[in-house]
Amino acid sequence: MSHPRTVQNLIDGAFASARGGATINVYDPATGDLIATAPDSTAHDIDAAVESATAAFPAWSALEPKSRSARLNSLADLVERDCEAFAQAESLDTGKPLSLARSVDIPRAIANLRFFAREILDSDVDAYENAQGRSLVHRRPLGVAACISPWNLPLYLFTWKIAPALAAGCTVVGKPSEVTPITAWMLAQRCVEAGFPRGVVNVVHGRGPLSGAALVAHPKVACITFTGGTATGEAIARAAAPDFKRVALELGGKNAAIVCADAALPEHIAATVDGLVRAAFTNQGQVCHCASRILVERSAWDTFVPALIERARRLHVGDPQDPATDLGALVSGQHLLKVAGAVEGAVKDGGRVLLGGARVDPSMLPERVRAGAFFPPTLIEGLSPSARANQEEIFGPLATLIPFDGDAEAIEIANGTRFGLSATVWTHDDARADRLARALDCGTVWINSWMVRDLRVPIGGMRTSGLGREGGVDALHFFAEPVVVVRGPRERIEERAAT
Ligand code: NAD
Repeated sequence: MSHPRTVQNLIDGAFASARGGATINVYDPATGDLIATAPDSTAHDIDAAVESATAAFPAWSALEPKSRSARLNSLADLVERDCEAFAQAESLDTGKPLSLARSVDIPRAIANLRFFAREILDSDVDAYENAQGRSLVHRRPLGVAACISPWNLPLYLFTWKIAPALAAGCTVVGKPSEVTPITAWMLAQRCVEAGFPRGVVNVVHGRGPLSGAALVAHPKVACITFTGGTATGEAIARAAAPDFKRVALELGGKNAAIVCADAALPEHIAATVDGLVRAAFTNQGQVCHCASRILVERSAWDTFVPALIERARRLHVGDPQDPATDLGALVSGQHLLKVAGAVEGAVKDGGRVLLGGARVDPSMLPERVRAGAFFPPTLIEGLSPSARANQEEIFGPLATLIPFDGDAEAIEIANGTRFGLSATVWTHDDARADRLARALDCGTVWINSWMVRDLRVPIGGMRTSGLGREGGVDALHFFAEPVVVVRGPRERIEERAAT
């Protein structure tokens, strides 16, 4: 075990501990080892960061977009240079397979930085003309942006916020998850190396109810972009309301996968179960878009369900460092207890466990990771759509199986939660896929696929899954105030000038 790292805040261009000196221990959930300490910051640290970001705002926002774009590209270059170190740190901090951090988390963080660096160059002033005159829509950056991110995709989601904020001309106070602070600290170091002026990027570590709440409540914060749990989103929306701060909330989900009978035909079934196993269990089921309710057309149940169980059983749960590992550790022992409790609750509610269902027996794991928080892929059938496991977000490697007859019932079950983040539809009947997609109340519907992303499209949720959208111009527009300048028709102006 190597020496624990000392994560520090970046405030006003300098790295420092929390002013009060308190720290949070950070553990590798695969081994239980202490891997870092991070500042347990308070309102004092937040205040210093917001003051610095406020002071840096006029100069940063006045830069030409191409200058801001160049800084973001330099930052992307540095993350790319050090991508292996970032991937190792992300896997250590979260317990996710190193192969996943290498292939998804870090490349996507780099892509986020480059995408907004390019996108800001194309964002022209919108111009509209009619008989009454000419209207120009200028976009004026809002000011200090609070960027608060969760633990499941730490660097990926942190960059998804700070990149559009910086590109649009805001200055940033970031508050990464206290559970997984390491890669945000490494990114802060690269921000200094990339030459971001002092105060443009501040990263303050600490617990949500303390430093996070202080950031949200700070009067000089102009807008808040948050990704995390629905209950936290509600608290943030309340705290932001008195000052009418602009808020974007990316929250939880209870995403349905609708498997139509044709997707279980011999020619399609292998691709369907492969796709669904990915959708349900990637990152140990800790992706907000993971499919957690699998709705199966009743006529295909007997073919599809055994095939899904067999495919999921083949997933290898183990050491995140092992290239053969499909599922690593859950993010913490505490989270494992929550997932195990949800399975117990599902069984009490009448569910039957078809696969998994209890913590992996440590003796089945390699010695290095026997103390880790490992939970296997779990499938449960026999629950009513209104059961707790079909209504509450569990955020682990657990999916329920629910039969349906016909599209109307599939839609009713799929839409029958308070969430509305995303869904998947599995069918090769294009017209049916289209009908189902249009009837689903959620922000994204993937057909025969999952997490296929074009960074230009808006992504986000309906109902308690969130408010607003991230991605493309929606993200850039969030960080700016539209200011409309209108000129009357030239003839009138000349007429008026002559009189
Ligand atoms: P969380 O809500 O506990 O924490 C998220 C962040 O908010 C952390 O940085 C935390 O410190 C901070 N925070 C907590 N309380 C706060 C408060 N009162 N004021 C300000 N900040 C506060 O979420 P989590 O457990 O880290 O992440 C898991 C959740 O995130 C799941 O519900 C998941 O669905 C959701 N999520 C959503 C998306 C999406 O795009 N919709 C993506 C990833 C994760």
